[in-house]
Amino acid sequence: MLGPRAMAHLQEPMMTATKILIVEDEAPIREMIAFHLGRAGFVVIEAANCQEARTQLANERPDLALVDWMLPDMSGLELTRVLKRDRANADLAIIMLTARADEYDKVAGLEGGADDYITKPFSPRELVARIQAVLRRAGNIDDEPLIAGELHLDAAGHRVSVDGKEIRLGPTEYRLLHFLMTHPERVFSRAQLLDRVWGANVYIEERTVDVHVRRLRKALAAETAQQYIQTVRGAGYRFSTKDKS
Ligand code: CA
Repeated sequence: MLGPRAMAHLQEPMMTATKILIVEDEAPIREMIAFHLGRAGFVVIEAANCQEARTQLANERPDLALVDWMLPDMSGLELTRVLKRDRANADLAIIMLTARADEYDKVAGLEGGADDYITKPFSPRELVARIQAVLRRAGNIDDEPLIAGELHLDAAGHRVSVDGKEIRLGPTEYRLLHFLMTHPERVFSRAQLLDRVWGANVYIEERTVDVHVRRLRKALAAETAQQYIQTVRGAGYRFSTKDKS
């Protein structure tokens, strides 16, 4: 018999699925893309214009944005430029969608910061393949496990182990550890961690971060693995395998 806590754990999603934002004003095209990406296993969020896109980006923290070239309030190219200039979107991959097949436009799209460029019409299979290729290049599909001493995080298998022993983490602790391990040696304030791990405009107190850091350290159990998650007094937290200073 499983107790209620164990049951709750089983019901938690085992994968943090890749989240994709579709920015396209034409609803039938947007819905068609959303349908196929959903079927391919992605979590899909949608925006009909640039303003909605920026709200969704801040709230949902997608891994990749599909940005149509022709949008009502700003061109997709301008949106891509704006997003790539903003450090908050440093990890966001962008694929531009366009009906234009001109080489000039393709170059402009890529120079604007897009990671790839797809010309309409495209097949769902081609779109999914291009998305996977971009995510792999961006390091968002991690085949390589993250390793810090005896601590291993295998994002592909969604497993964390210390000294070869598997550790079970709640979804938030897993996301927090994954974020910290992919951004080592940098100090993040509680507000920054809330933005990057929980998503902006999530109205929770900064102390919540401390609670999850405590749980994460406790779950890691082994003293040395705990020490990688360092408190930097007055500043926040840092993942580091170097001695705390
Ligand atoms: Ca459009």
